[in-house]
Parts: sequence; structure tokens; C-alpha cells
Amino acid sequence: TDREPRLPSAEQYTESLYPQDEQLERVLETIRANGMPEISVKPGYGRLLTLLVKMSGAKSVLEIGALGGYSGICLARGLPADGRLVSLELRDEYAALAHANLTAAGFGDKVEYMTGEALPSLERLGAEGRRFDLFFIDADKGNYPNYLQWSINLGNPGAIIVGDNTLLHQKVMDTAEQGNNVRQMREFNRLMAEHPMLESTMLPAYDGLAIARLRA
Ligand code: SAM
Repeated sequence: TDREPRLPSAEQYTESLYPQDEQLERVLETIRANGMPEISVKPGYGRLLTLLVKMSGAKSVLEIGALGGYSGICLARGLPADGRLVSLELRDEYAALAHANLTAAGFGDKVEYMTGEALPSLERLGAEGRRFDLFFIDADKGNYPNYLQWSINLGNPGAIIVGDNTLLHQKVMDTAEQGNNVRQMREFNRLMAEHPMLESTMLPAYDGLAIARLRA
């Protein structure tokens, strides 16, 4: 009946199990204070990023889309002492805030920011022969298939590739939605599931997360 209390969502229940993360809460405060979009990765997926870096033993991580450094801190937390994070971010002021937040969290010397459009930065990394063990794709959705191809190109054997927001607020399931971002996200999801170089799975919690491993 209407008087029964609503059950919490699966996400609310799982988040309630974890203590507040002061370091990451401070990042969210700086994002709000600067009037930036509140679209950092969700806490449950942030913890998964830390675990994936640790479990895979990744030493070189590439992030596409830094915003205020929330996912950057989660990735850096998983790195060993000699591990490094490269982060691509369109906007100088976002990269500057992310760098300040990673520095405050003790990871300032582990991270390198490349600002501007991600695609030319990826080309430059490729030309320099840089290779990575783990990728986190979380920037403009229309380029997700391109970012996936670059991750495959720049990935060491066995590299992990993670993409956030793969459900695009349920739009990927709605055939009436035919905008470019939705079509590109459907293509990204199809490639993650079918690409012969990848083994993958998709988590449908929050806004969806896809995880793949590049075949060795
Ligand atoms: N990964 C961040 C986190 O969880 O803390 C959130 C990233 S936010 C969802 C997307 C970011 O991608 C924004 O900071 C935006 O400025 C950046 N971005 C958008 N288009 C881009 C592009 N073409 N190249 C690089 N970065 C881009």
C-alpha cells in the first residue's frame, strides 16, 4: 500500500555500507564550488576502478575525461609506487582543478595532464610509443568508439578497458532515441561485446559500466 516505506535502491543500499570518503567528498565540494557539472563517477564504480588497477597490477593508466579528479584519485589509489596516470581533459581549468585535487590527495607526482581534445593527445601518445595497462573512458560520448579503438591500439597485452555511462540514462534501450551520442554509445557497447580482441562484461547499475580485457 501507499503507506509502506519505499525500499532503498540497490545503489543506495550498497553505498550505505561504506563510510564517507573524506578525500573524495572534498573533491565533490570543489566541483560544486566551481560551478562544474556534478558528473563524477559514482562511488561504487570509483571503488571498482581502484580495485581493477590493483587486481590487474596496472602500472600505467590512461584516463580520458578528468573533470575534478574524482576518478583520477580512485585510479591513482590503485597504483604501485612506480605507477603513473596520464589524464586527458578538454578544459584547462578542469585539468588544473583535478591536478590540485590529486596533489592534495598525495598523488600530484604520479599524474600528467594533457589538455585539449583527447583525439590529438591520443595520436601524440601513439606516435611517442606510449603504452598503457588500463584505460578509463569517461569523456564525450560521441567519441566512445574512437576512444575504444585508441585503447586497443595503445594497450599492452591483457590491458583493461573501462567505459562509464554505457546506458546513457536508459537512452541506449530506447529505439526512438537516434541522436549521435546514443548511436555512438550503442556502437561502443556492441564493440565491447563483440570485438574479437576483447573479453568483456557490462554492469547495469548506476548509469552502466563496461569492462573489457584486451586479449594477450
Ligand atoms: N572521469 C571524471 C570523474 O569521474 O571524476 C568525470 C569526467 S566527466 C563525465 C567528462 C569530462 O570529459 C569533462 O571534464 C569534459 O570536459 C571532458 N571532455 C569532454 N569532451 C572532451 C574531449 N573531446 N576531449 C577530452 N576531454 C573531454
